[in-house]
Amino acid sequence: MDRKVILVIMDGTGYNAALSQCGYLEGAVELGQARRWKMQTALPTLSGPMYETIHTGLWPHEHGIASNEGMRASTSANVFSLARSAGKTTAAVAQEYYHRLYVDRPWDRLRSIEHHDPDTDIQHARFYSMEGYGPVNAVAPAEIDLCAQMTILAEAHQPDYLLLHTCAADTLGHTYGGTSAEYHFQVWMIDNALSRAVPTWRELGYEVMVTADHGMNADKHHGGTEDIMRDVAFYYFGDAEGPDGDTVLSQLGIAATILERMGVEPDTGMRPSFLKG
Ligand SMILES: [Zn+2]
Repeated sequence: MDRKVILVIMDGTGYNAALSQCGYLEGAVELGQARRWKMQTALPTLSGPMYETIHTGLWPHEHGIASNEGMRASTSANVFSLARSAGKTTAAVAQEYYHRLYVDRPWDRLRSIEHHDPDTDIQHARFYSMEGYGPVNAVAPAEIDLCAQMTILAEAHQPDYLLLHTCAADTLGHTYGGTSAEYHFQVWMIDNALSRAVPTWRELGYEVMVTADHGMNADKHHGGTEDIMRDVAFYYFGDAEGPDGDTVLSQLGIAATILERMGVEPDTGMRPSFLKG
């Protein structure tokens, strides 16, 4: 059976921050509506490299994007390209980096934030730029507004794969640190938005996965190997069977997992799926 999948990437949200702040997601786990595992990211724990790792099932050393300064269009088989090749519809609400990775078109500052082109790997999108981002102005969209854009795309285009990339926890972490009140509050703000969005997306027929690209340490940083940078949570709302709750999942399995849930054959280079059935 081919299922539709939503993946939420909470940028910069580490494992302990998710478990301690995400009351809605953790409540769903406690009630049995969802499952949650600890997940270990690839390295280095940087955003651009991990976006590509999540979508290709490859290490940065393999897909070739190992630095945010080295961002370029993806050259590896990925969730968006394989889904499109299989006749599926793809969509995203995400920061501009995703346009660079999966939309083979120049970024037009006055037009590209709204994107509809069936000949690109992300076919429908609402992008945001964060132009001017810094410690004085976070330039981060409201979590609930991002969820609203997701819902609009889901209802208008019925994408088989729909990505939400939310940036504000990472932004606040870089300004105040990964153990700060400001960072923790923003992680909760994502959870508070998802408490209204997830039930709606489930009613629209989606399986929902929620995870992070990497965590954030108290020094306002990530990129290395510290547990606080590398351990993230992986939540799953859906019907598949997964491993025991104390299994530590690999972030490299996300790509094959999403594709198999959609009924699309993963690329042979991708690390294996962790959900079955
Ligand atoms: Zn960051």
